[in-house]
Amino acid sequence: TKKHSKNSFSLFSHELNKEIADKLTIERELKSAIRNDEFLIHYQPIMDLAAGKISAMEALIRWNHPELGMVPPDRFIPVSEESGQIIAIGKWVLYTACSQTKQWQQQGYAPFRICVNISTIQLQHPNFVQLVKGILEETGLEAKWLELEVTESILLEDTETLKESLLSLKALGISMSIDDFGTGFTSLNYLRQFSFDRVKIDRSFVQDINQDLSGKAITSTIIALAHKLGMEVVAEGIEDSVQLSYLVNELCNEGQGYYFCRPKSADQHDLLIMDK
Ligand code: C2E
Ligand code: CA
Ligand code: CA
Ligand code: CA
Repeated sequence: TKKHSKNSFSLFSHELNKEIADKLTIERELKSAIRNDEFLIHYQPIMDLAAGKISAMEALIRWNHPELGMVPPDRFIPVSEESGQIIAIGKWVLYTACSQTKQWQQQGYAPFRICVNISTIQLQHPNFVQLVKGILEETGLEAKWLELEVTESILLEDTETLKESLLSLKALGISMSIDDFGTGFTSLNYLRQFSFDRVKIDRSFVQDINQDLSGKAITSTIIALAHKLGMEVVAEGIEDSVQLSYLVNELCNEGQGYYFCRPKSADQHDLLIMDK
């Protein structure tokens, strides 16, 4: 047993060292990623479930590194949050997504909202409201087409500064949604005081619709209560028609998932829209 525990310890420390080395590599390589034009955005449609039309697109960042290949956001966003690099990356995403959306409008596509993921670090940055305002002015996108998605964990920071920035963002005329709802410990009633427009039900609950009764109970409870509190509901991660028809029946407003469309580059979307 002694030998065994020694081996598992060295295995563990090896894994740990590798993880630290990976993080350092990512942090170092991120420094030149914007300059070298290595980021791109994939857009995933969010459908109005009653009308069957696109009502929004979510901007999802992609990192194409010359040696590391495609690095998924779950691997580099947390690192960039720790290092502070998320401030520059987040600004790039916001600018690029707003300017692309303005371009789609100028090309004559029926307008839709652009939903941009914002990390807590960005929202707490003192210049964030000014930054958003400046980007809207520069790109010419009307505020009503921009929606910021923040995760539930932001609400753990129950501070005056946070409440103030949320209010000033709302005052610009943009909308706000809570992402991955249901994974944290926030109650819907608590969300109301921050005047969120929408709640996005986490895809783990949507996937459970087919698995057991609790998946159905949780999604329908979130939808009914959010509606009573004056918020709309978006279901993420819809992968099949069973999940879809359940959500339509429960009057869920909007839905997103591989069943409709995977995230794609702006060029790929242009080709699809032109096909029709
Ligand atoms: P998220 O905001 O919850 O985004 C939804 C994720 O679910 C995306 O993964 C999307 O590709 C994936 N997805 C969409 N439909 C389906 C489906 O039907 N089934 C399954 N299994 N997955 C689906 P992605 O693009 O890998 O992004 C992962 C996370 O990285 C995002 O989760 C978000 O938290 C973060 N992220 C992405 N882009 C940005 C960004 O620009 N800024 C920040 N701060 N975070 C970002
Ligand atoms: Ca999101
Ligand atoms: Ca989400
Ligand atoms: Ca998620």
